[in-house]
Amino acid sequence: MQVFKFGGASVKDATAIKNIGTILQSYTSKPLLIVVSAMGKTTNALEKLAESYFNQRNDVHEIFEEVKNYHFEIIHQLFDQQHSVYDEVSNTFVEIDWIIEDEPVDEYDFIYDQIVSIGELVSSKIIGQYLNHIGLTTKWLDARSYIQTDNVYREAHINWDKTSELIQKDIPKILANGFAVTQGFIGNTSENFTTTLGREGSDYTAAIFASCLNAESVTVWKDVSGILNADPKLFDDCIKFDELSYEEAIEMTYYGATVIHPKTIKPLQNKHIPLYVKPFLAPHESGTVIREATIAISTPIIIVKNSQVLITLHTKDLAFVTENQVSDIFKAFADAYIKVNTLQISALTFSASFDFDENKFDRFKTLLSADLDLRYNTDLKLITIRHPNNEAIKKHVSGEIYLEERNRNTAHFVIKV
Ligand code: ASP
Repeated sequence: MQVFKFGGASVKDATAIKNIGTILQSYTSKPLLIVVSAMGKTTNALEKLAESYFNQRNDVHEIFEEVKNYHFEIIHQLFDQQHSVYDEVSNTFVEIDWIIEDEPVDEYDFIYDQIVSIGELVSSKIIGQYLNHIGLTTKWLDARSYIQTDNVYREAHINWDKTSELIQKDIPKILANGFAVTQGFIGNTSENFTTTLGREGSDYTAAIFASCLNAESVTVWKDVSGILNADPKLFDDCIKFDELSYEEAIEMTYYGATVIHPKTIKPLQNKHIPLYVKPFLAPHESGTVIREATIAISTPIIIVKNSQVLITLHTKDLAFVTENQVSDIFKAFADAYIKVNTLQISALTFSASFDFDENKFDRFKTLLSADLDLRYNTDLKLITIRHPNNEAIKKHVSGEIYLEERNRNTAHFVIKV
């Protein structure tokens, strides 16, 4: 069996959904599970809605109306007026009505997940119905019946034992009778509350299903021709890779290559499942395959990550930074759910850069020991160059370098822009 994932751009309007229908017509001979994201920029809009509601601003209903209109406009172009999808989608949106009619009492992250997850639920319902409408037998599955998580809202962790048991019990039978379509990005706690797996997490969902089902492959359909050596939105002379190793893909995504969610690769690597990245506008092109291989790369890969914070800690009495202090600092990072991107330790200072998230950073500050002094800069950019050469560094690194870290395979520059 295979797993396909269609992201926001590939389901952003009626034409895009029709294109999915056309692609899937040529994949009816094998069992196929389809994972979909929310449509277009819906997750951003629902994020705004959740934030507005939490802060009790008065544009909540306006944002919600826009989200609903956008979806109903798409439905209108795909189905006739009597189709049951209208009611199905309305009934799903009602869940947001129920939340916003009362004042918020729960924590923000919990509310966020209950609201933002509706994007995937609605999108999968529309796509599932459309595929049936064009004669491709498709069963809609609620991913929350399979993807079991802890209750770290907005960044939930998978309970692999439970998840694989549920997936293996049901899904092979379902796929014997046609396609199945389900939501990326969302999961379920043991108390039956909805969680999300982190922004762009639908790729990860596809990998979870594939791993639990020992799939033959996963294909992520994108608006680019495959994996490129740089973001085509930022650079114009990009080169596509035909194949990459799992390790290379993990390094690239960890440092901000947004083409695949960073957590996607590991479960596939563990089961030796290849991951194809293919263009949904040219489905017959080969794209890029990520698989078990030793692949020598000579082209520098450029990855840019914005919104970085660089911290420097030193002891208040200007004594050496001790191993115990370093260990405490890392405990604070872990407890604040901060993933460090670059790191440098000197005799008197400890410097690190990471993605700026106000809540996580505030928490980190409260967890730091009182004998450390903290200084930091925000709004920095991290440029990572894999397989660096001097020409690539000269070409791509400009601005004031605040921190530089380099080995034979990777060079990092934290710069002020
Ligand atoms: N819809 C979610 C997001 O935009 C998940 C995804 O697309 O992968 O982050």
